[in-house]
Order: sequence, then C-alpha cells, then structure tokens
Amino acid sequence: MKNKKSFFIYGPCSIDTEANLEYIARNLKEMGVKYLRGGAFKPRTSPYTFKGLNYAGLKILKRVSKKYNLKSVSEILDVSYLKYFEENIDVIQLGARNMQNFTLLEEVGKLNKPIIIKRGFMSTIKELLYSIEYILQQGNDNIIICERGIRTFQQESRFSLDITSIFALKEKTNFPVIVDPSHSTGNANWIMNASFGVMAAGADGLMIETHQNPFVSLSDADQIISLEKLKKLHQKVIEIQKIL
Ligand code: PEP
Ligand code: MN
Repeated sequence: MKNKKSFFIYGPCSIDTEANLEYIARNLKEMGVKYLRGGAFKPRTSPYTFKGLNYAGLKILKRVSKKYNLKSVSEILDVSYLKYFEENIDVIQLGARNMQNFTLLEEVGKLNKPIIIKRGFMSTIKELLYSIEYILQQGNDNIIICERGIRTFQQESRFSLDITSIFALKEKTNFPVIVDPSHSTGNANWIMNASFGVMAAGADGLMIETHQNPFVSLSDADQIISLEKLKKLHQKVIEIQKIL
C-alpha cells in the first residue's frame, strides 16, 4: 500500500535505567523508527510488583527521546498527571484499564496531542468507539486505536488477540489501527508471527515491548523481545506492508 501512514512504537514495558533506554533508542534510530515508548506510571495488577519510576522515568524518557529525535510515548494513569504529560510527552497512551475512565478521556480530548487509546480487555468494539467519541467531543481528533487482546476462556496466552477488531475498526473509523502483540500474547516466542498476522490483516502499525536484556526487565519479562529479534521482525513487517 503506497504512502500508507504507519506507526511502529517500540520500547521497554517500563522505563528502568537510562542506559537501557539509550540502547533501545539508538537501535530504533538505526532502524528508522520514529516512536519510543516507555511506561513510567504502570497499572499493575499486583501492588507488590514494580510500578514504574514515575516522574523520574518520564524525565529519562524525555531526555533520551530528545537526544535521538524520537517521539516519546507513555501511559497516563490519572488526570492529576495531565499537565506534566502535556508539557513533556509527545504521545499520550490511554491504557486498556482506563479505556472507560470518562474523566480522563475528556481531559485528553482537550489536548492538542496524539492519543493512543488501547481497547479495554473486557470491552466491545462499540464501547471502544464510544470512548473515542468522548475524546472527539472535546475537539481532539488525533487518535490512534490500539488492539491489545481481550479476555476469553482460553488460557494458553495472556489475552486473546482479536484480529477481527482490525477489520471492524477499519470499516467503522478512519483512525489508524495498530496492534500490541506483546500484551495480547504475553509470550516472547509468539510476537513475531502475531505481528506478521496482524500486519497482513491490515493493521497500521505495532506496539511492541523490547529491552537490552529481556530477562532482567522489571515488568512483563515473559513478553519482552530482544532488539535483535525486533530488528528482524520490523524488516519483515515493512516487506509485508509493501506487498499489501
Ligand atoms: C502497556 O502498554 O504498557 C500496557 C500496560 O498495556 P495495556 O494497557 O494494554 O495493558
Ligand atoms: Mn507491559
């Protein structure tokens, strides 16, 4: 597909050290990627796990993304962080758990910045579309939709990757639809093929978690892929886009 706008958003699940983020950013720059993700406020199911470096993490993300001329992407958990995100982060991510945080939706709708809205893992497409309308009503139409897997009865993957949502969302909206194969599979070994599948299905990009040393990642270590693997994946994905 010619002149297709695509969004490849890679980076650590959570920002841990500046050295790791630098390593990732340097590699992404070499790959020609434009976005660097990194969580600083992490919505963790268990409060006993690493919840991120908070503002210190966002400061690292800002420094590193500026240095490598990448656009920073990070998740906002609460309206109280809004001003800081507005001033310091390029693209604001609304996570699956906040897809129906209606106050937050309205507040990001007042900003003049791209918003990535992730589908709630218990949410229908109709509910996702209504959430997007909360943002639109406030004037912000700079929206990227992210499918990140839903909860079903099967237990083999962390979530079930709903590939049909790409078709439905692309029929019903004009917004870019990207897919997060990291959270939808929860399995580093499955991310490459899941990425090929969703790109062949028409996704406009990917959000993938990576780390200099995946095994030491402080969050989601099972689903983090190495930069070597990411490079291979990215190259092939670009090829898939070319033949579509
Ligand atoms: C994330 O991308 O870091 C994340 C927490 O994803 P989700 O909101 O899809 O669970
Ligand atoms: Mn994660």
